[in-house]
Amino acid sequence: MADKKIPQRMCVVCRKMYDKSDLIRLVCSDGKVCVDGSGKKSGRGAYICKNGCIDRAERTHCVEKTFRITVNPGFYDELKKEFYDIER
Ligand SMILES: [Zn+2]
Repeated sequence: MADKKIPQRMCVVCRKMYDKSDLIRLVCSDGKVCVDGSGKKSGRGAYICKNGCIDRAERTHCVEKTFRITVNPGFYDELKKEFYDIER
């Protein structure tokens, strides 16, 4: 539908609103964050846009701050791998 309203969500890194299709959802459950390709996983969710914000998140530790967690070294490498797999 051309006139169907697309839900908008905020990117936690740049804090701009985007259509859901321009964002990738992250989910935190049991202190672990993963990329939610289906958008249906349960847990606390946050969105990151596809405009380079996953790299920005790594520099600013945005994911840790958003979910108030600590992450292992290599966490962002894993996350980026998943992120770019879905983005493609
Ligand atoms: Zn962003």
